[in-house]
Amino acid sequence: MPELPEAETIARGLDAAIAGRRIERIKIHRDEVVEPMSPAAFRRGLRGRRVLSVGRRAKWIAALLDDGGRWVTQLRMTGRFTWAPPSPLRSEAHLSASFVIEDDGGVIRFYDTRRFGRMWVLDEDEWAELDARLGVEPLSERFTPRLLADLLSNSRAPVRNFLLDQKRIAGVGNIYAVEALFRARIDPRRPARCLDRNDVRRLHNAIRSVLSAAVDRRGTTFSDYRDVLGAGGGFQNALKVYDSEGEECLRCGGTIERCVLAGRSAYFCPDCQR
Ligand SMILES: [Zn+2]
Repeated sequence: MPELPEAETIARGLDAAIAGRRIERIKIHRDEVVEPMSPAAFRRGLRGRRVLSVGRRAKWIAALLDDGGRWVTQLRMTGRFTWAPPSPLRSEAHLSASFVIEDDGGVIRFYDTRRFGRMWVLDEDEWAELDARLGVEPLSERFTPRLLADLLSNSRAPVRNFLLDQKRIAGVGNIYAVEALFRARIDPRRPARCLDRNDVRRLHNAIRSVLSAAVDRRGTTFSDYRDVLGAGGGFQNALKVYDSEGEECLRCGGTIERCVLAGRSAYFCPDCQR
């Protein structure tokens, strides 16, 4: 499932392909991709608009339009954008929407095998409302150790679950939460509000360093995730504990364990994560 580094990589790819260009034509192949909008309303909102830039907020792709609105996409489990040179629009398996870019700028396609992905066109106010509901961006200057300490102190949840809450910190999913906790030497089951000042400092540093390193490696690919040109990410080779139950801890030689928190697996080394 795409998290911050994967969404960032996709957004950068889209920005390089379509920033400054107009969306000439739109075909919605599966109506549910724009729910709760109607395909007609979605097309009306986007057709003829110039894309000024494509960025990311949390795990979402947000393209700024020339009328101040945003074309926002939630990739969810398997949503994926591709850019291709100019080519006829056609239906194909798992294709949800196609976008023809002006002046032979090619075709952007959105594929989604699991069909949980959604996209909308929002006006400035609707975007501001959505943006305000999301937590702090962990790679922004606003995300300080002090802010992290404040957020943690208000949560009784296990710290791994705390890190997945998009209303507190935006963009971190299970892979990077588990990896950050390993780097910070913190047991994922510990209650968030029980972390002391040193734990908070290490966790802050670990969240930022693991996310930055994953952005540099263009994300983590297990199966579905690809960038807009079809290339996989490289960070799967740098993971230290995720999906490594029973393997040797790279730091202390202990054995990596798995536990289930809020229905999702967490991986950790009980010998060096306290
Ligand atoms: Zn260990």
